[in-house]
Amino acid sequence: MTDFAATRAAFHLPEGMIYLDGNSLGPLPKAAAARVARTVSEEWGDHLITGWNTCGWMDAPARVGDRIARLIGAEPGQVVVGDTLSIKVYQALAAALDLTPERRVILSDRGNFPSDLYMAEGLIKLLGPNYELRLVEPEEVAAAITEEIAVTMLTEVDYRTGRKHDMADLTRRAHEAGVVTVWDLAHSAGALPVDLTGAGADFAVGCSYKFLNGGPGAPAFIYVAPRHASNALPALSGWLGHDSPFAFDLDYRAGAGIARMRVGTPPIVQIAALDAALDVWDDVDMTDLRERSIALSERFIAGALDACPDLSLASPRDPDARGSQVSFRFENGYAAIQALIAEGVIGDFRAPDIMRFGITPLYLNEADIDRAVEILARVMGDRLWDRPEFKARKAVT
Ligand SMILES: *Cc1c(COP(=O)(O)O)cnc(C)c1O
Repeated sequence: MTDFAATRAAFHLPEGMIYLDGNSLGPLPKAAAARVARTVSEEWGDHLITGWNTCGWMDAPARVGDRIARLIGAEPGQVVVGDTLSIKVYQALAAALDLTPERRVILSDRGNFPSDLYMAEGLIKLLGPNYELRLVEPEEVAAAITEEIAVTMLTEVDYRTGRKHDMADLTRRAHEAGVVTVWDLAHSAGALPVDLTGAGADFAVGCSYKFLNGGPGAPAFIYVAPRHASNALPALSGWLGHDSPFAFDLDYRAGAGIARMRVGTPPIVQIAALDAALDVWDDVDMTDLRERSIALSERFIAGALDACPDLSLASPRDPDARGSQVSFRFENGYAAIQALIAEGVIGDFRAPDIMRFGITPLYLNEADIDRAVEILARVMGDRLWDRPEFKARKAVT
């Protein structure tokens, strides 16, 4: 059994705060602070340029990728970290489209995170006028997978509502129609068990600053199924994805396997923080995590709906159809979230009316959930949100 009291003790959690926003930015693992300090002062400070060899910096993207692989049902050598998720979406999508050059339609859904859609738009503009980004409602995806589609580009868990696609089923349907799949695991990695190998996924990407707690600006990751890895097009053909970067050849020659998905110099300090954050995961069984995520989510939903008649559940009521977040709709959701933050409960808001709460068993327990419900009930019941200072929108919501 995973010891969730021990995982909670591994985090710096500010006194008096209940943090329900780990789906957006995970809290600081205590070991990450010390690790970053050491990387800066000892590795960078004392080793300088030699650190690339002596401190294992050059291998860090693959080494840390292997640690993430375990959490998403992949094998060592199938995942690398680097860049940001938007960039990894672009890379994966370009490589996926290249596998079926006679098809021109990318299928996604209207619940997808806009950056993924924007990256697709940018890519197809470059590829020419015959390409199309086709958006359907999330519930219509299965029926929209036809032999006309080149690639499905789907985010497994919806960033607003937490609704979860059935990855195995949609991947199977895609393959039956000759369609290549790109899965975005931004709200899946570290949130629930993922089985890329079992599902037969082709490409997957995700970020490490949400449920994996790698810190603001932590690098993204990319997975390529082994059957594609050595012929996948590296659309962002930077020198560190080259077969032999230090030969300084004038021509690009893609590296073997997943290494070709590297682009440029890895962010060593950020990777150090992520590496330390992943230590916490070493003792976590994903089945235990899922069970506890569902128990805490159910407790939060039941408490909130019971105490707050003005809230309606935006997330699926069935836990099997949800990721690890709970969202409610409320007309004055933005102000309500601001009022909650003022009372020490951190959630966030997604336009137009979604109040969003991440349920993260690594550092949340029943007492936190009960206290959050109590404060939510007061904010809603006493209309604490109904004050001008809570209604003025900040840049980051
Ligand atoms: C969080 C998130 C992103 C963010 O991309 P960045 O490049 O890391 O800013 C992209 N896509 C999805 C689905 C997300 O949830």
